[in-house]
Amino acid sequence: MSGRLNGKRAVVTGGARGIGAAIVSRFRDEGAEILLTDIDPAAAEAASRELKVPYFVQDVSSEDDWRSTLDEAHRRFSGFDVLVNNAGLGDLSGKDSPETAQLDDWRRMFTINTEGVFIGCREAIPVMAESGGGSIINLSSIAALVPTPFLTAYGASKAAVMQMTKSIALHCAQNGYKIRCNTIHPGQIRTPMHDKLMEDTAKLAGAPFEAVRDDYLSRIPMGEFGDPADIANAALFLASDEARFITGSRLVVDGGMNLVN
Ligand code: NAD
Repeated sequence: MSGRLNGKRAVVTGGARGIGAAIVSRFRDEGAEILLTDIDPAAAEAASRELKVPYFVQDVSSEDDWRSTLDEAHRRFSGFDVLVNNAGLGDLSGKDSPETAQLDDWRRMFTINTEGVFIGCREAIPVMAESGGGSIINLSSIAALVPTPFLTAYGASKAAVMQMTKSIALHCAQNGYKIRCNTIHPGQIRTPMHDKLMEDTAKLAGAPFEAVRDDYLSRIPMGEFGDPADIANAALFLASDEARFITGSRLVVDGGMNLVN
């Protein structure tokens, strides 16, 4: 099947690499018009060239940046129907345990992962409502569902995204906005963020990288790491009209990790 997003206009944050880039690529192949945003100008430009979609430099934790991003989407597409709040921070250089996480790091995690998503939703809702509705997809994590002691602040920031998403979904439905809002919960997906997490874990434990990778793998019943394309496929479904009756739900894409951890 192709053309599942024909006529849709999407903004994808953190689209320069990893899961975000895979979502941009999949959406483009299915006919969407896309604005890719990222905080890293060089990476955004490179991704834009490779994926052949326009880009805009944006820090998702800045209200001003959100307003100019949505202005840019309006200038290019006269509004938009899909917002993917994908940009996120996962890395505290291995110092995210209940005994090591520092308050400044904790706040940085919430500023980007939670407030960034909140501002995006708040600013997008009136624009989407005005143009007849749409789909908001927020990237949460398996760490919002499964206690992960070495990801204390990260897990909390992603659990907040999950609960916020349900409140937004209910608010939009009850106000007749026709805006659906859902979370995706990736498990362990091979991206620059995931590689860095395993490298930091190995460094802190003084263990070989391969031993850490095998330990991480042993927690996934399906026995392999996910691919960014697995998350892009889930996002495609939620963005499309096939998901027209789905709101406030959690789509877990983790090879069964939540079943055993
Ligand atoms: P990544 O680090 O590989 O890519 C994240 C992108 O977001 C980068 O291009 C980065 O420049 C951008 N970014 C970071 N801070 C930003 C900011 N303030 N404003 C705008 N852009 C910013 O990460 P990924 O692995 O592709 O993860 C994407 C999303 O999925 C994140 O929200 C992450 O928490 C979530 N997630 C990932 C995994 C995984 O295993 N990779 C698991 C669970 C959840």
